[in-house]
Amino acid sequence: MSSDSDTEMAEPTAVQQRHRDAAAEVLPAHTDLYIGGEFVPAAATETFETTDPTTGAVLTDVARGRRADVDRAVEAAWEAFDETWVDYSAGQRQRVLTAIADTIETHADELAQLETLDNGKPVSEAAADVQGAAEQFRYFAGIVRENPGETMTDSQRQAQVIKEPYGVVGQIIPWNFPLMMASWKLAPALAAGNCTVLKPAEQTPLSALRLAELIGDIVPDGVVNIVPGYGDEAGAAVANHDDIRKLAFTGSTAVGKQVMKSAADTVTDVTLELGGKSPIVVFPDTDVQTAVSLVAAAIFYNTGECCEAGSRLFVHEEIADEVLDGLVAAVDDMTIGDPLDDATDLGPKVSRAQVNRTLDYLKRAQKDGGEFLTGGGQPDDEALADGCYVEPTLIDGLSHDAAAAQEEIFGPVLTVFRWDDYDEMIELANDVEYGLAGGVITEDISQANKTARDIEAGYIWINSYHDLAPGLPFGGYKQSGIGRELSAETLDHYRQTKTINLSL
Ligand code: ADP
Repeated sequence: MSSDSDTEMAEPTAVQQRHRDAAAEVLPAHTDLYIGGEFVPAAATETFETTDPTTGAVLTDVARGRRADVDRAVEAAWEAFDETWVDYSAGQRQRVLTAIADTIETHADELAQLETLDNGKPVSEAAADVQGAAEQFRYFAGIVRENPGETMTDSQRQAQVIKEPYGVVGQIIPWNFPLMMASWKLAPALAAGNCTVLKPAEQTPLSALRLAELIGDIVPDGVVNIVPGYGDEAGAAVANHDDIRKLAFTGSTAVGKQVMKSAADTVTDVTLELGGKSPIVVFPDTDVQTAVSLVAAAIFYNTGECCEAGSRLFVHEEIADEVLDGLVAAVDDMTIGDPLDDATDLGPKVSRAQVNRTLDYLKRAQKDGGEFLTGGGQPDDEALADGCYVEPTLIDGLSHDAAAAQEEIFGPVLTVFRWDDYDEMIELANDVEYGLAGGVITEDISQANKTARDIEAGYIWINSYHDLAPGLPFGGYKQSGIGRELSAETLDHYRQTKTINLSL
């Protein structure tokens, strides 16, 4: 990848120029840590670079938080909790959450462009993320007063069972949906009455920092603290902090396990939203074009960088050839290019490291006997040479125990399996360590319901995919996680139960 300095003297390409112009307009003014309502440098005054995965150019330097900074943030959060936030009524918190949603919507275009610059996702998808982020705050604003308690009275006691916030929570998020993941974490934590220390991913810290700028006048100082930094520094410091009472993590299963182990040292409750390797099952009664569109969206949306991506296709033998031909044609029709261009369907991956990881899986798949029906490498287009692009890829002919079929690739790579025996197919569909999501495509609604129940996963779509409506719990079975987001249940992940037993 050529860096900005390599190309300094050369005339910028149209794409480079577009990205420079956008950066000049939308990069946040502050890229320090956001602690106690102020932007402050890291204690060690170090920074790290965040780059544009489309051009390879450095976007800006960001403060590199470490343990001492997380300590400061936790302290500021407790001060805010004890002195201010604990006294906010549910109605006041509702107004704060609604105002955050309003401000996100007011700045929607700018936030979408910023997300595209930092993450590489097509700007139309970034715009959907921004809308989704605003909706999170609106949804939790709507249920913030939902805090049912219980009472129990008998001849000897009159007891109340109430729900209280934890106080200060720690939240660690990934790079695939940076602003949306921040909203999935912040909205329920604040709604339940907590203060938070949030660590964005080192690849994509900018939208969370811009959000901090935007909400500075809405949220009392110290209620939201943002500490960018690396996983093994700032992330690890959040995961094993003595004064953090609840941890919520979204990311890989490997790191989720580490976070859970760290949490054990302080007996801290965890919510984990981890990896996936979701099956999508196509029945022979399905209209081929419908199946093609749904499967393509299930795997290629957000360049396959979705934990719920439908990455294993189980297509019935009777229509397999037609569906696979249709998918190859759909890939041919996709526009791979500059994510700031509205016409682009598939942008770059987030980083060179992620490209290499995906390419390693493709090489391994070939060694394991896989056949690429389309794709299999990087696009052969000089105009894309600076970017972190990987071709949309379909792999046929793999054994289901091959690494590419078992492990989360997190890229635009679909492994394909044909079936004719339902029980054997379901056994394979469930034969992975993950259980986040699944898809069923058929016009037979009874069959669809049966298959939805047979798939071991926390979220099943019938004749759609990726539709995550606030109010419907999202989270994983098996090693895909613990707890549910997006729903009323999420509020309870951010509260603890207290019994007050009054003797009569
Ligand atoms: P990916 O492998 O896709 O980058 P990760 O699971 O590594 O996803 O990252 C998700 C989030 O977890 C990021 O914010 C990252 O910095 C953080 N992280 C990585 N390693 C650790 C760790 N050891 N402890 C806490 N957080 C971590």
